[in-house]
Amino acid sequence: MSHRVETDLVIVGAGPTGLFATYYAGFRGMRVAVVDSLPELGGQITAMYPEKQILDVAGFPSVKGRDLVEGLVEQANAAEPTYLLDRAAVALATRDDGLTLTLEDGTEVEAKAMLIAAGIGTFHPRPLPAGEGWVGRGVEFFVPSFAPYAGKDVLIVGGGDSAFDWAVHLEPVAASVTLVHRRDAFRAHQRTVAQVQASSVRILTNAEVVELRGATTVEEAEIKVDGEAQVIRTQAVVAALGFVADLGPLQTWGIETSKRHIVVDQTMRTSHDRVYAAGDITDYPGKVRLIAVGFGEAATAINNLAPVIDPSAHVFPGHSSEG
Ligand SMILES: Cc1cc2nc3c(=O)[nH]c(=O)nc-3n(C[C@H](O)[C@H](O)[C@H](O)COP(=O)(O)OP(=O)(O)OC[C@H]3O[C@@H](n4cnc5c(N)ncnc54)[C@H](O)[C@@H]3O)c2cc1C
Repeated sequence: MSHRVETDLVIVGAGPTGLFATYYAGFRGMRVAVVDSLPELGGQITAMYPEKQILDVAGFPSVKGRDLVEGLVEQANAAEPTYLLDRAAVALATRDDGLTLTLEDGTEVEAKAMLIAAGIGTFHPRPLPAGEGWVGRGVEFFVPSFAPYAGKDVLIVGGGDSAFDWAVHLEPVAASVTLVHRRDAFRAHQRTVAQVQASSVRILTNAEVVELRGATTVEEAEIKVDGEAQVIRTQAVVAALGFVADLGPLQTWGIETSKRHIVVDQTMRTSHDRVYAAGDITDYPGKVRLIAVGFGEAATAINNLAPVIDPSAHVFPGHSSEG
């Protein structure tokens, strides 16, 4: 139901960057509303790799995606944010003293400033042509948990990080795992490729799924390998063909963008005084797109926008550990 929300700061994006920014905004005494087009918190981590072990988050030698998100949400909740999930932010109107962000369900968020932590935009999985009509009947685009694959013959389609990560994690639980990729070179991390090559996973290159067959759910797949057809048994097909990211409406908000990213200065300010950005969405020379970088940019952005919301506030916050 559409309604009006009044707040100090509105954050677009509840991925790791937006969640850490939410905590930080609370620490700086701001009221905060968080918008996301997905129904769940956690951005790319929740949508694409909740079960993966992440090795490069400071302070955690290894942390499962799901557990990192759980910690971020607990930390963010200290700010008592208003979550506006399952609806995209579609329109922005700015004034000298604030802005109004309109969401796709008609909700209007009145704020003094905005942080865009929209990652790669709203994202949709790239479809598997042979899987048309089979989605939910054996074909999935995400692997949010491994238990449903126990004892199944799994067919993974794709040659990138998600395909190889899922192959590594499904191999111990599935009856068999076959990975099909249409080229003979992979885009995945070399170490993960080597791990899969050394496992029981069967890798078919120069291969393409041409047809899925089954009574009500998928039972077998016809695959063309080097032009030769072969049929394999499968009850679970994971289409890991990447995502079509869409900055969508963000590009109509009058904020400077460059190659589908938002241009920021060293304070994370965009081309608009009251709009800041952080995380994967930002662009500047030398930008590195990692969770750890998003955390740093979130802290930089929130501290630098604090005086925009309250002119008596300082950029340097003091340390959170000080009593
Ligand atoms: C398979 C895979 C493995 C990875 N492994 C690692 C790793 O090991 N270590 C590492 O550091 N990084 C890794 N990354 C990258 C990491 O996930 C990203 O750097 C990180 O998620 C960026 O966080 P973010 O919050 O900036 O953006 P995101 O996580 O993309 O979150 C942005 C959120 O904004 C929402 N959104 C976008 N537009 C709108 C809109 N108009 N309205 C409402 N909501 C909107 C999206 O729905 C999304 O939830 C990996 C990525 C992938 C795909």
